[in-house]
Amino acid sequence: MIMKEKEISLKAIGLEALLRRLPEHHPRYVDIENELRKTRAGENGEKILANVFQHYQFPFKHYIFHDLNLQSTGKFQIDTLFLFQQGAVILEVKNIAGRIGFPEEYNQLTRTLENGQIDAFECPSVQLERNKMLLEDWFHTHHMPIPIYQAAVFPRPHQQFENLRKDLTLLFPLEIPVFLRRLNSFHPSIDLPGLEAIANKITDAHREFDPFPLSDRFGIQPSELISGVRCVQCGWFGMESIQSGWGCPQCRNIDPHAHIETLLDYFMLMNYRISNKTARQFFRLSDEQKMKRILRRVGIPFEGERRGRVYAANLDWVRNLHDSNRTKVTK
Ligand SMILES: [Zn+2]
Repeated sequence: MIMKEKEISLKAIGLEALLRRLPEHHPRYVDIENELRKTRAGENGEKILANVFQHYQFPFKHYIFHDLNLQSTGKFQIDTLFLFQQGAVILEVKNIAGRIGFPEEYNQLTRTLENGQIDAFECPSVQLERNKMLLEDWFHTHHMPIPIYQAAVFPRPHQQFENLRKDLTLLFPLEIPVFLRRLNSFHPSIDLPGLEAIANKITDAHREFDPFPLSDRFGIQPSELISGVRCVQCGWFGMESIQSGWGCPQCRNIDPHAHIETLLDYFMLMNYRISNKTARQFFRLSDEQKMKRILRRVGIPFEGERRGRVYAANLDWVRNLHDSNRTKVTK
């Protein structure tokens, strides 16, 4: 049973927005491009992992959590947690292209690309051990000491490896069901009501990771970002307010919903809180009444009255606004 589905990553969507609004000559531009590439690769790997569980039926009671964030003696994130009567299994995905090697003297993995370039990464065993320790602490706090197993998943089935570590279980996606069924032949350490209780506790304890606002995270001043309503057709910042929505002075595109993306950008990059005045600055809009109508129509909760009114979004709001905007664009 899938207790927590894999959701689309707002972090990657936010990083894309940040790159669009950051001048290309900005000193952090390349760092953010790299962060976006890493985030997308991680996401793709996690999707492949989630797909395995979508398409495989286990003939025994189990619970699956994707993108799980818990806190015990520290905060930790698990790509996929599989819970069954034999214990808990931590699965971490490493979506790294190239030939993978494990140097003996360092706790690293290296990858060699076809052009000969070699890069080093943290060995997945480091992250797995850390997560195992923190999950042990979590179970201990909840008086549920259960066995914890762990494996690193490499989602590319034709990947080559050298010098595999004996202490690291490494799986391709299609090997996961076999691995889990083999563990299932061990003696159960939890009864079925106990298992359900743990699954419910985990569900209640999960807190979605909030990456926003990104300008803060990357030490970028809000004033360094490009303001204005963006035209999705030509990419121009500075759509003008017209009767039927927004008009692009560059390509003549008319878009009744362009303000949604601009608002989303503001929440993801700048701040969850926005006043009519700060919104007008970001939208490059002088009409206070139109701004008020936009903020009201989107339905963001507000505090205060008149000029002191502040609209306050949060991560759920950003997700809902993003989803509703996507259905509008594809319509
Ligand atoms: Zn345009």
